[in-house]
Amino acid sequence: MTNIAFIGLGNMGGPMAENLIKAGHALTVYDLNKEVVEKVVAAGAQSADSAVLALSNANIVISMLPNGAIVKSLFTGKNGLINHINDDVLVIDSSTIAADDARFVAQACKAKGISMIDAPVSGGTAAAQAGTLTFICGGEADDYAKAKPILEAMGKNIFHAGSSGAGQVAKICNNMLLAIHMIGTAEALNMGTRQGLDAGVLSEIMKASSGNNWSLQVYNPYPDVMPNVPSSNDYYGGFMVNLMSKDLGLAQELASKSHSPISLGSAAGQLYELHKYNGQGGKDFSSILQMLQES
Ligand code: NAD
Repeated sequence: MTNIAFIGLGNMGGPMAENLIKAGHALTVYDLNKEVVEKVVAAGAQSADSAVLALSNANIVISMLPNGAIVKSLFTGKNGLINHINDDVLVIDSSTIAADDARFVAQACKAKGISMIDAPVSGGTAAAQAGTLTFICGGEADDYAKAKPILEAMGKNIFHAGSSGAGQVAKICNNMLLAIHMIGTAEALNMGTRQGLDAGVLSEIMKASSGNNWSLQVYNPYPDVMPNVPSSNDYYGGFMVNLMSKDLGLAQELASKSHSPISLGSAAGQLYELHKYNGQGGKDFSSILQMLQES
């Protein structure tokens, strides 16, 4: 059993924390939103009144937060956690943030003798619930080895991508590809159904053909083709348009830094920005299909 402080219990962090409890770890949790805290407390966690108070007795600190500004402020801001964490504690940040932000926080931790790895995840809320996430880690090999058994309670595939920040680079490459194939899948389904095809039948055909991809397999954007996916729940409960838009902004930054052409990634970024500014930022990213249906 390991004592774990877990900060950020949203769509992803909540079920991840619950899987750690199921694996026998002792969790002290904190989130700004009391409602999500109550759910994880009902599953067996202790709650703390602040992130600093969640640290007491922790051997591991895990954060799962919306963006880099929040992660930086939590760890390195005024009265940041790095001023309170013991130097034998390992910090695992699973939020999706810029590689530079991850390196900044890891450096600040290192200056205090604290180890940190970036460990963003792929797989969505269903994988978070099932404990089958993919973790993509960046950091020292020893710290990765220490984190691995903990991550195995929440995930099925655990990768060491390289040094600090490498997990975030790999994660952003993946999410840019995800956005592109989700939009492509939505365009194909919209065009096919406008020609009178049934969305379920067309999906089965493409799944068994060369258009097969993850969006078709486990996250169909067309309502009621699949149970238990956001499109069958009015596009709520998954990976928000706001977050996908953030990730495509991070992809644009990485592309500029590395002089990499990302024509489709940039186009995907513009479509998600438009969808967000149409007031759809809180919906799941598969709702891009609705934007196509309305045009
Ligand atoms: P979410 O908005 O559902 O959850 C974030 C939680 O952080 C919220 O409960 C919020 O109250 C809490 N929070 C914000 N600021 C805080 C602070 N200062 N202290 C404590 N708690 C704070 O987001 P999510 O969908 O769980 O995503 C979390 C991260 O995981 C993001 O970086 C996202 O890009 C990434 N991610 C999400 C998915 C997905 O499918 N949802 C998949 C892979 C990666």
